[in-house]
Amino acid sequence: MLPFARVAIIGMGLIGSSLARAIRQAMPTVRLTVTDASDHVRDRVIELGLADDVTDGAGAAVVDADLVILCVPVGAMAAVAAEIGPELAPDSVVSDVGSVKESVLRVLSEALPGAHVIPAHPVAGTEKSGPDAGFGELFRGRWCIITPPPRADQMMVERLGEFWHRLGSKVDLMDAAHHDRVLAVTSHLPHLIAYSIVGTASDMEEVTKSEVIKYSAGGFRDFTRIAASDPVMWRDVFLNNRDAVLELLGRFTEDLVALQRAIRWGEGDALESLFTRTRAIRRSIIDEGQDTDKPDFGR
Ligand code: NAP
Repeated sequence: MLPFARVAIIGMGLIGSSLARAIRQAMPTVRLTVTDASDHVRDRVIELGLADDVTDGAGAAVVDADLVILCVPVGAMAAVAAEIGPELAPDSVVSDVGSVKESVLRVLSEALPGAHVIPAHPVAGTEKSGPDAGFGELFRGRWCIITPPPRADQMMVERLGEFWHRLGSKVDLMDAAHHDRVLAVTSHLPHLIAYSIVGTASDMEEVTKSEVIKYSAGGFRDFTRIAASDPVMWRDVFLNNRDAVLELLGRFTEDLVALQRAIRWGEGDALESLFTRTRAIRRSIIDEGQDTDKPDFGR
């Protein structure tokens, strides 16, 4: 039996449209109703045939859904929750895909008292945005972290886990605050560093822009891919995971100063020892199947 028969997706950008495609592939009998704030996104979703119904507003999309998934930027979750609250079917599960979990859990629980709020985060994505960027295989082999509130209905949590499992994801359960600390290290800080480095390069007056582009070797080029990620999504990530990111940024700044010192004083052993440890981390990521060992010319 399907974990959910009628699914509503609010927000049909990269993640929402990937989810719609993945549901179509893995659970073709699910009735899929979707919406988006933008007229042009809704029109495109109809052209691409990504759903059974496309509604004008979020309220109309959720009316008889047994699973509602909010795929909007983290800062838009409260507005969507207010819109869907009066229309939710009894016993429906309200979940999301936001990259930050503690603030989303708080906002949704406050706005939807009595609803089964069970946040989740598929740890999968690209630097692209919008419905044309989505693809159905996005979640395959990737982790989906579910962050249920302490008194969540276990049966509903299991159904949501089964739903993500059918989309090809590996599922983990985690406390929302812990999720935010882990993702601050693995995703949020790396994005901040990429935004900062690419910003620094673009501000450098002694290196003309054309030289930065022309000689963009591996390192810088890889940072530009991350720094091309959606500005609104990432603005909201930093505003909503402020404490974990700031704490980590403090540690990172200290470590950077230690490296600065090692370079200044010619401490080659310290540099080599760090670079050896970091290479081992790359190896573990490949061994875990979270990336491939192939040379990357702009994946
Ligand atoms: P996206 O491609 O920009 O799509 C977001 C969509 O939501 C846009 O079409 C946007 O319309 C729409 N939207 C915004 N406010 C809305 C509202 N109030 N009601 C209905 N629709 C609304 O972004 P995305 O990459 O799919 O990200 C969506 C969520 O997934 C975010 O919470 C993000 O943190 C999470 N996530 C992203 C990734 C990733 O790699 N991108 C990975 C995992 C999780 P407008 O463009 O008109 O604003």
